[in-house]
Amino acid sequence: MSVNELSPDNDQAAIPNLKDPSLLKDQCYVDGAWAGTPDLPVTNPATGELIVKVPRFGTAETAQAIDAAHEAFASWSQMLAAERCKLVRRWYELQMEHLDDLALIMTTEQGKPLAEAKGEVAYAAGFTEFYSEEGKRAYGETIPTHRKDARIVVINQPIGVVGAITPWNFPMAMITRKVAPAISVGCTVVSKPASETPLTALALAELAHRAGIPKGVFNVIVGKSSEIGKELTTSNKVRMITFTGSTEVGRLLMEQSASTIKQVGMELGGNAPLIVFDDADLDQAVAGTMASKFRNTGQTCVCANRILVQEGVYDEFAEKLTKAVAAMKVGEGIEEGVAQGPLINQAALEKVEAHVENALKGGAKVLTGGKRHERGGTFYEPTVLTDVTTDMLFNTEETFGPMAPLQRFKTEDEAIAIANDSEYGLSAYFFARDIGRIWRVGEALEAGIIGINEGVISTPIAPFGGMKQSGIGREGSHHGIEEFLEMKYMLMGGL
Ligand code: NAP
Repeated sequence: MSVNELSPDNDQAAIPNLKDPSLLKDQCYVDGAWAGTPDLPVTNPATGELIVKVPRFGTAETAQAIDAAHEAFASWSQMLAAERCKLVRRWYELQMEHLDDLALIMTTEQGKPLAEAKGEVAYAAGFTEFYSEEGKRAYGETIPTHRKDARIVVINQPIGVVGAITPWNFPMAMITRKVAPAISVGCTVVSKPASETPLTALALAELAHRAGIPKGVFNVIVGKSSEIGKELTTSNKVRMITFTGSTEVGRLLMEQSASTIKQVGMELGGNAPLIVFDDADLDQAVAGTMASKFRNTGQTCVCANRILVQEGVYDEFAEKLTKAVAAMKVGEGIEEGVAQGPLINQAALEKVEAHVENALKGGAKVLTGGKRHERGGTFYEPTVLTDVTTDMLFNTEETFGPMAPLQRFKTEDEAIAIANDSEYGLSAYFFARDIGRIWRVGEALEAGIIGINEGVISTPIAPFGGMKQSGIGREGSHHGIEEFLEMKYMLMGGL
């Protein structure tokens, strides 16, 4: 066995400097055991090097994982909430104890700067902690009766087996944001992380195992996404599909889920507007734009994609933002001081390139960046564009990369109209000091999440989710357990 205690197929592979090398796994976790033959390569996007291979599960293995979850549901759902939540709490503690290793695994497979990866682990563990508390509070209600001989009570019960499919951009947080509420209230889960970033998910499974979460409660499978998705959405044993990813795949999963009338939770794509008004504090606006636009190298669903700047401050804002963007260090996430990592893969790189080229053809100008980074691979220069217009590609598609297009506008109404002219409605940001404007614009923007004078909006204690084609339902906060619960009304008659 190698230093990472992997299967013979992977005995050359390792992530150096893990304090606990046994967190690096190369098998799936089903029914409390490690299973499958490593086959699918997981690579480091910063270097292109192979990290390990993981199994390529399909329909049959997915059905087995569903069976395990289904069997576990009977006892897990019956356990006292306090007992269940004690185990979830232990899972949280282990996530925090292993924060450095989880972050290193994440940076190696995903590419984000190590400091950001550490931030994500703490944020992700925050969901586990929050729901280990909230899971005890799935309160029902009593309703004043309509008949003297009857009483009405409403109880909340766990919905059943949950299929959870998640993306590569937040390899840990997108999982705990679903799994922690689900299992805390008594559901069991089959979790399918993205093929690019399965290793953080498998490390989470190892920690769940160590926390004493019983077999079958949390299963992690990796492999052929279309087969796994089809089985999860069409199985009668699965009662809910919770998905985070692109609107396109979300639409497909909803269609497939219709066959068994499942509950669906959808956290989908975005195309966030960020508006800087004339009365904004410009330094605050620049800091907020940097945080919203460039976190995770522009690969977050809540990244500002369209930046609208009022004419009175346009030039000054452009100058300040360009200075900040040009100062960012680009490199491998484990290097000291790096603020921008690589893009996840070649397709992501080509998409950013296409958006920049399209804008330049339409008359935009480059203030900084604008081309592939000299490091090669999937690195792209952090970019600021000026003189962009509403007919350019980024207005209708997520760029999902480090391109900040600055568009000039004249009036508040014009900015709101441009901002809302999108099929997406996940997040929106604006910078202003006038209290009247803050209320007007906050209420007018069609998005589920609004950052006002702030670029970082994610926290476990607030409801996260989108309007329009950005999704259905909310995750995080006390609302985040609602979709994992089935409401049952009981009428007691003959009193
Ligand atoms: P994606 O292509 O939709 O993939 C997301 C997940 O779906 C992955 O696990 C993927 O598996 C799986 N998948 C792909 N095709 C599938 C199919 N036919 N059946 C079942 N599963 C399938 O999205 P992505 O490129 O990874 O992530 C970026 C997108 O996620 C962006 O649109 C972003 O805005 C969105 N996002 C939204 C939120 C939110 O909270 N609203 C948060 C983060 C990201 P494989 O990797 O194995 O193909």
